[in-house]
This record gives sequence, C-alpha cells and structure tokens, in this order.
Amino acid sequence: LFSWYQNELIPTKELKINFTDDITGQLRGFRIFTACVRFGSNKKIFKRKKHIKRLYKSAKSIKMKSPYSKTDLNKIIDSVVEKNKDYDGDIQFDIIFSGGKTSSDGFTPLGLSTLIILSVKPFDFPDKFFKEGMKLVTFAFQRPFANVKYTFYLPAIFAHLTIVKDQEADGIIFVDPNDNETILEGSSFNIFMINSNDQILTYPLNGKILKGITRSIVIKICEKFKDLEVLEQSFTKNELINSKEVFITSTTRDVMPVTNVDGFIINDGKPGKLTMELREALIEFRRNSN
Ligand code: PMP
Repeated sequence: LFSWYQNELIPTKELKINFTDDITGQLRGFRIFTACVRFGSNKKIFKRKKHIKRLYKSAKSIKMKSPYSKTDLNKIIDSVVEKNKDYDGDIQFDIIFSGGKTSSDGFTPLGLSTLIILSVKPFDFPDKFFKEGMKLVTFAFQRPFANVKYTFYLPAIFAHLTIVKDQEADGIIFVDPNDNETILEGSSFNIFMINSNDQILTYPLNGKILKGITRSIVIKICEKFKDLEVLEQSFTKNELINSKEVFITSTTRDVMPVTNVDGFIINDGKPGKLTMELREALIEFRRNSN
C-alpha cells in the first residue's frame, strides 16, 4: 500500500514523518483527520465528499490552515487511490492535516498544515462482535471540541488499559461527566438504542459528539428505506440498559450490535433483529453507491 507525504507516494511501511517541521502537530497534537475506506469491491472511497467536507469544517473551526484547496486535495487523493488500485482488499485512508511549521515556543503554527495520507488495511474486528454482540463499559468523559475529528484519543486509550481490560469488555462509551448518566458517543463510534416502541434514539448534534458520517447514513436508511422513526435525543445509561436493542456505527465498523453494557445484558443478550437488518441495509446501500 502507498501513502502520501511531502508530495510523494511512498510505500506505507517506508513512511517517515519529519518531527521537527511539525511540532504543533506531532508533539502538541494539533492534528485533525478523517478515516475513510475504499471497499475492495468498489474502487471508490465510500462517501468521500462527506469525509472531505467534515475535514475542512474541522480545520476551519479550530483555525487550522488547510494544506491545499479542496480541488487540489481531491487530485492528490485521486493519485493515491490510483496508485493503490491493484490492491484487492479494503483500504483505509487516514487523511491527516497536521500542525506544520511552528513558532519557537511550539504553540503557534506559522503556515499551512502538513498533509499526510496514510493508506492501511482497516482494523480487523473479531467475528464474535457480530455473532454475540459487543460488551461495552461506560467512562465519564466528554471530548472537548467534540465536533472536530482530531487524533487525540488519550482518554479512550486510558479507559481501554483500565476498565475495558479489568472487565474483559470490548470497548467504551462516554457518558456526560456533568451528570454521569447521559450517553454521548463511543471512543470512535456513535451509539444508538431502540426502545420498546421501536423508536431509534441517538444523541443529538449539539456540539458534544462527533457528527459521524455513518450515523447520518444510518439515520437516513431508517427513515427512508425502513420507515423507522429516529429521535435525535439524549438517553441515560439506565434507559440504554433497559432498551430493546443497542448498536454502534462508524466507517470501519458499519453497524455493530451491542449486547452488554457495564455488565448488564441488553434484552435477551443476543444481537438485535433490527440492528442486524440495518447492518445488512447499510452494506447493501454501500454496494449500490458509486
Ligand atoms: N465518534 C468519534 C469520537 C469517532 O472517532 C468516530 C470515528 N472516526 C465516530 C464517532 C464515527 O464517525 P464515522 O461514522 O464518520 O466514522
């Protein structure tokens, strides 16, 4: 697989990032990205336009200077996709804008940010997640600048090294630290619950979560193709535990069922029926897009 850095297409394994030219990005974490996927069977990046749009919106909202115009970035992405065209499997492209040249105190980017396009094989999730559903644990935290997709995942990783490990879970969900009960989003995914009236609930876009691209697609699939009612409103951990079905969404996970939260079993402990239908519908939708 080939990645892009400093105007060159380089085998991902040989990618060497210059640290000193990018102190705000590499050392201070002034770095945003989007992770999009070219699924093996189609040769285009799924929802590429939406990913690029979110990336530029993220940059604008933190006053980061984009390295290229949208048109020029798209040309570069085209060349990266083209260079990798013979690769058979799925490819994840992490399109990263990273701080760039920095003032002597290391806190002010002086020019445009640096573009890195990292081409990798997407994470492999165990089959168990789909067959038995995931076990998640809650962690009180709200991502600052939540509608920006940045590369700082320290709180989530800390939670994985502690509570996820201790409770032999598969991942974490952030609960609002202000009330310790409102469910926000996951470490790298959005979360949905289905109540006893078959209404689908997910946290609203009020600045406390990332606007997941898969979240938007799944909402559309529910409303348009499945005639299901979606309520973008908050719910508590207690409501989640007592719900009919729980699932999460992200670009690399699609729709994944959740069957256990903080040790409480959701419904009968099996992946939900609607959840698995939505998973199929999303994969079908993707197959037919392009
Ligand atoms: N929330 C966070 C914090 C994330 O990092 C991600 C995934 N990158 C998501 C939600 C899901 O977003 P998407 O559907 O665009 O992958």
